[in-house]
Amino acid sequence: MANKLPKNSTGSTKTKIIAKSKPKVYITRQIPEVGIDLLKKHCIVKVYNKNQAIPKNQLDKAASWADALLTLLTEKIDSTFLKKHSHLKVIANYAVGFDNIDISEARNQKIAITNTPGVLTDAVAEHTLALMLAISRKIVEADQFTKAHKYKVWQPMLLMGSQMRNKTLGIIGTGRIGTDVAQKCYHAFGMKVIYCDIKKDDALEIETNAKKVSLHNLCKQADFISVHVPLCKSTHHLIGDKELKLMKKTAYLVNTARGQVIYEKALFKALKNKQIAGAAIDVFEFEPEITRGLEKLTNIILTPHIGSATIEARQQMAIIAAKNICAVLKGKKAINPVQ
Ligand code: NAD
Repeated sequence: MANKLPKNSTGSTKTKIIAKSKPKVYITRQIPEVGIDLLKKHCIVKVYNKNQAIPKNQLDKAASWADALLTLLTEKIDSTFLKKHSHLKVIANYAVGFDNIDISEARNQKIAITNTPGVLTDAVAEHTLALMLAISRKIVEADQFTKAHKYKVWQPMLLMGSQMRNKTLGIIGTGRIGTDVAQKCYHAFGMKVIYCDIKKDDALEIETNAKKVSLHNLCKQADFISVHVPLCKSTHHLIGDKELKLMKKTAYLVNTARGQVIYEKALFKALKNKQIAGAAIDVFEFEPEITRGLEKLTNIILTPHIGSATIEARQQMAIIAAKNICAVLKGKKAINPVQ
């Protein structure tokens, strides 16, 4: 994507104006200081410091002031917003997903959009494995049971779960995170890997003996199904009634991608009717709301979108977002442009 040259208030291109004064960056929530400090070396920085999503009118005001925004997935950057703030040179999204931004309008307005790929892969993959183990070994139930002083005597049949070794893992979307989950499960647990993706993954097939299958067959064959596709038109409600009905009664479904990839009402029904053994989800269809009733089920584990929430990942995300902003403001190419 061609980077934008700085404009003056009338919209005409004049590089010198910005070069003389420090560019202005608005950050829509407190992020790790390391990223803010990096930006402060070159820019005037303001941060929205309340622990809530920035209200729309305040985001509008901030965008009118700024040359660049550092946004979170809670900010809806739609075409109206982008048209109104076409003077912006870059919007760095503090996430790898960018379904909150109208990318084609940003392209029209020549605003560079960037994300934070790669630096959070380990964190999200590790969280996915934590969810797989937690749901299949009933860790949350066991914790609640023990804390409620219900453990009176060792029991041969108490809280029995299902092991991962030798089971079949079905990965939906073998990009950075999906691949990492597959590698970890193959090497650490000796799982058989099957996957579905719009493209064939030769490297993963060689390393883990993974087999590419259709979504239909993946749902039918896998013992653990893990979702790692981006949210877009083709992945919205990718898992619904039909797919859940194909799954084994003993299957576990894990979603650390985006909530809208799964039709939550259908998932609720499948779990309530014990159509599948369990689910563990970090993301929700109507985030931050959860479909009513899910919280009452014991065969689901819910976490509040913390897949990338390690100190290491969140710091690196702050650094990478800051570096992308600095690059574009200096007239260079973005490091992680979203096309
Ligand atoms: P990626 O772009 O590397 O991988 C996505 C994969 O999905 C690609 O291999 C792509 O070919 C495949 N894909 C796209 N459309 C598909 C379709 N219709 N059917 C099958 N496969 C399809 O992305 P990534 O870095 O691995 O991240 C994956 C997603 O994880 C992100 O888009 C984001 O929404 C989510 N995420 C969540 C968290 C969290 O905190 N829970 C953190 C980071 C990322």
